[in-house]
Amino acid sequence: MNAAKPHIAFDVDSIRKDFPILQRTINGQPLVYFDNAATSQKPTQVINCIVEFYENYNANIHRGVHSLSQEATDLYEKARQKIQKHFNAADAHEIIFTSGTTHSINLVAHGFENSLTEEDEVLVSALEHHSNIVPWQMLCEKTGAQLKVIPMTPEGELDLEHYSELLSENTKLVFVNHVSNALGTINPIEKIIKQAHQVGAAVLIDGAQACPHLIPDVQKLNADFYVASAHKMCGPTGVGMLYGKTEWLKKLPPYQGGGEMISEVTFEKTTYADLPHKFEAGTPNVCGGIAFGKAIDYLNAIGLEAIAAYEDELLNYATEKLLEISGLKIYGTSKNKTAVISFNVEGIHPYDIGTLLDKMGIAVRTGHHCAQPIMDFYKIPGTVRASFSFYNTKAEIDALVQGVNKAKMMLS
Ligand SMILES: *Cc1c(COP(=O)(O)O)cnc(C)c1O
Repeated sequence: MNAAKPHIAFDVDSIRKDFPILQRTINGQPLVYFDNAATSQKPTQVINCIVEFYENYNANIHRGVHSLSQEATDLYEKARQKIQKHFNAADAHEIIFTSGTTHSINLVAHGFENSLTEEDEVLVSALEHHSNIVPWQMLCEKTGAQLKVIPMTPEGELDLEHYSELLSENTKLVFVNHVSNALGTINPIEKIIKQAHQVGAAVLIDGAQACPHLIPDVQKLNADFYVASAHKMCGPTGVGMLYGKTEWLKKLPPYQGGGEMISEVTFEKTTYADLPHKFEAGTPNVCGGIAFGKAIDYLNAIGLEAIAAYEDELLNYATEKLLEISGLKIYGTSKNKTAVISFNVEGIHPYDIGTLLDKMGIAVRTGHHCAQPIMDFYKIPGTVRASFSFYNTKAEIDALVQGVNKAKMMLS
């Protein structure tokens, strides 16, 4: 990703001890977990945080006068502040807890239902996950706005020249992921945001795949919205975040109605609560939010720069070793990518490779990775995707290479 980075001594053996699941065997073999782009594993620190919450702090938040409720509220709001600090948001109320990236995107898409018209255009990139495509298609169906696609290049990068041409005063919204989950490409979002702002469009960045590896500074990026899921960053499932600039969050209507999001309710009229509660109807995933904060602590204790540097080493090693296999083709060859390798072996269906690797204890993803337009671009049904995390090792990559060779022998 960045060749100039110094080599940082990385104690992967001691890090692996934090992840109990890595001790497991699968089909009689030690688990080699290479499906990190789908979800990351959880360290003991996060697991213990969940147990500790339910053993000692469980209560509903924000409404209780009793001490337990206040303690739980305090922990939850502290977690929000941790997330705020991590993403460098200007204010804690700009961080909305959601159930994850998908929920965050739908919340924003819903918010624009009454402000877009048939003259308006929204741009979405060809590299998107379905969850950053479908909600916008639904929005366009409802409003009559036009959805236009920023095309990709054979290397799996966005065609920025074409992007500039697509931008016009009709462009109201732009949606791009920070990192592609299917190919690993890191998109030049700072530039993309800057150009969108020049025509007055707002930008939502899908950071689901970037956050486990990069340090997103939402103020420096000048993103209007930035979304992520805890479960891809060593946190639990069912919780995530939406960052929105205050001015936007004030403008957007609430997504769901219910408890917690109101200021005053009468049958004539309800007034909404202030940010962030306006967007947080109902009892939230209290424990999940707190554990999300713990996961951020965990990642920061290791250091995202050290993580990115180590994962780069894994990426370079795996790329080199896999390319030694004849007939193997890697999709997504940008110089700027995270540790994701999407590949196929000539004449073999990705599903068959995945199934055989599973027999060897190696967990990879096969298929379209919720990004069918990318597969259509390459005219393939799908790929085998190995995605690495900082708790993976070169020895595990050797096992993968051996496994692919074995599968190739058995299948061709
Ligand atoms: C995983 C992922 C999503 C969806 O996240 P959920 O946690 O399933 O809501 C969206 N975009 C990208 C780039 C992803 O990697």
